[in-house]
Amino acid sequence: MDDAATLRGAGLRVTAARLAILDAVRTGNHLDAEHIAHAVRGRVGHVSTQAVYDGLHALTDTGLVRRIEPAGSPARYETRVGDNHHHLVCRLCKGVTDIDCVAGAAPCLEPSQSHGYLIDEAEVVFWGVCPDCRSGTGEAPNASEPSAVPRG
Ligand SMILES: [Zn+2]
Ligand SMILES: [Zn+2]
Repeated sequence: MDDAATLRGAGLRVTAARLAILDAVRTGNHLDAEHIAHAVRGRVGHVSTQAVYDGLHALTDTGLVRRIEPAGSPARYETRVGDNHHHLVCRLCKGVTDIDCVAGAAPCLEPSQSHGYLIDEAEVVFWGVCPDCRSGTGEAPNASEPSAVPRG
């Protein structure tokens, strides 16, 4: 199924911007909105940042794109949806890597008490230092980012 058919199948109007957003999210590795906007402009010319956010909202709301929000990092987007995979996040470069669900399906963890909730998901983020950063070849942390990174 091509992207236009995918958008129509989700009940969305097909626009050049939405096609470019979907393509940028799929070909990127957990990009944030800023990098997606940059990629979109490289494909279709000027698109406002607001239009990129609106497009991401539409794609996220319809389940075509998954939004993840590691603490201390802007929201990231990916097209790997429909499974309960988790993420490894590098504390230094904020790189994100997919890992398969620990238990195979959501929720992969059971709380010690459910308090009467019907629990459908456990959000698991593994924090650490990626191989590039461990060997000193990773990107330096952005000095403008908040330094209050959770240290677990
Ligand atoms: Zn790193
Ligand atoms: Zn992912």
